[in-house]
Amino acid sequence: MSTDKYTTERITAVRPWTDNLFSFRTTRDRGYRFVPGQFARLGVPGEAEGSIVWRAYSIASAAHDEHLEFFSVVVPGGQFTSRLAKLREGDAIHVERRSYGFLTTDRFEAGRDLWMLATGTGLAPFLSILHDFETWEHYENIVLVQSVRTQQELAYEDVIRGFDKSEYYAEHARKLRYARIVTREPVPGTLRDRVTKLLASGVLEENLGMKLDLDRSRIMLCGNPEMVEDSRKLLVERGFRLSRRGDPAHLAVENYW
Ligand code: NAP
Repeated sequence: MSTDKYTTERITAVRPWTDNLFSFRTTRDRGYRFVPGQFARLGVPGEAEGSIVWRAYSIASAAHDEHLEFFSVVVPGGQFTSRLAKLREGDAIHVERRSYGFLTTDRFEAGRDLWMLATGTGLAPFLSILHDFETWEHYENIVLVQSVRTQQELAYEDVIRGFDKSEYYAEHARKLRYARIVTREPVPGTLRDRVTKLLASGVLEENLGMKLDLDRSRIMLCGNPEMVEDSRKLLVERGFRLSRRGDPAHLAVENYW
């Protein structure tokens, strides 16, 4: 059943990453439009007969994909995610017709390096942006920082490392610098400290072989609200300005819960 406000889609695939972390795909209405980095509002049946519970979910899939993809944690006792986690292929899910959010590259003043810093499922919007061909063409360097607690949570590594094997993206794939942070167990080839500490100390830039620079760097933050707030403060202290509606600048942020 679809209405003026939403369409009813079907789950087409579920991919578990850990016991409480999973991705899922849905069918996509032909009229559904979004800008990479934006989020959808998804609805699942609520407790009361006929009710729907709605939540915002960043879209992980590309703007050109025929499906929609989302990346989720199961929030213990959470009304929405506990229901969502039970959904299986073929089940219905509602998708609001409108897309939302300002974590999009069109918020920025012209720049040369795009930095995307994610914790946990905050990676989702950056996956969509990474599938946007114009982004690869526009920026000279693209930095992705993915911070998770355990190695098993390093979701989408295959996709992130796979751009150079794709006929479509290969010519630009060398632009990507990818830093992984695993905070709760030692994993070779990854950083161990929180992204905020690594930013403050300069170790992140050292590790990536690139400096944050007011003229060149445009920065997106997404994930844990404290990480977003603390990183934003650190960057503002270094002179970066938050983009606002009608006032493009250097920083765009999205809290995740
Ligand atoms: P998370 O706690 O956000 O941790 C992911 C990564 O972010 C870890 O490397 C973590 O480091 C780091 N991190 C956490 N707080 C930080 C901070 N203040 N500054 C810098 N880095 C920080 O883990 P998650 O698995 O994505 O989410 C954990 C819980 O958050 C979930 O189980 C759920 O309850 C809730 N959550 C809710 C929603 C929602 O929609 N309601 C969505 C996502 C998550 P450390 O290991 O050092 O903590």
